Amino acid sequence: MEEKLLWEKAVAFHGHECGGLTIGFRASLYAAKLLGLTFSKDERLVCIAENDACGVDAVQALLGCSVGKGNLLFHMTGKQAFSFYERTSGKSVRLVLRPAPSGMTREESFCYYQAHTAEELFDVKEPKLAVPEHARLFESYVCDVCGETAGANWIRIRGGKTLCLDCAGEYDRFHV
Ligand SMILES: [Zn+2]
Ligand SMILES: [Zn+2]
Repeated sequence: MEEKLLWEKAVAFHGHECGGLTIGFRASLYAAKLLGLTFSKDERLVCIAENDACGVDAVQALLGCSVGKGNLLFHMTGKQAFSFYERTSGKSVRLVLRPAPSGMTREESFCYYQAHTAEELFDVKEPKLAVPEHARLFESYVCDVCGETAGANWIRIRGGKTLCLDCAGEYDRFHV
C-alpha cells in the first residue's frame, strides 16, 4: 500500500490528523522497513509502546497490533518510544523519538513531524525488554467480598480471603 493510503487509514482510525499520530505513523513504517514486514495479517508482530498517546493508534491501524490480541503491550515510561518484535525472524528494534524543538503549537508540531523522515526523527536502538511471551490465560477466582471473577494474576490473598484488586485495596485501607 502506498504511503498516502496508509496515512489515510491511520487518520480514519484515530479520528484526526496530528503531530502525535504522525510520530506513530513514521515509527510504524520505519519498523516495517527495518524488520522487513509486509503488512500481511498474520504477522507475528508484537509492539511495546512506552506511552498511550495519539501515535499508538497508528501502530494499531497499520501494523495490526492490538490490546485484545495481546500483541500491543504498554511499558509506561512516558517516552515516545516503541519496541517492535517479529517472532518469526526474531528481529526486533526500539525506535526512540529524538528531542523536538520545544514550545511548538499543535499546527507547528504537525508540520514538524510531517516534514521529517523517520530516519531524521528516531534513534534506532536495541529493545530493553525481552520479547514478551504469548498472551497467557490465567485461572480465575471468585472474590470473597464482591463475588466477581478475576484472573489469578490479579487476585490477592489477605487474611485467608481471596480478594480482587478493588476489594484488596479496600481491605488494605481498613486493616493498617
Ligand atoms: Zn491525535
Ligand atoms: Zn472483589
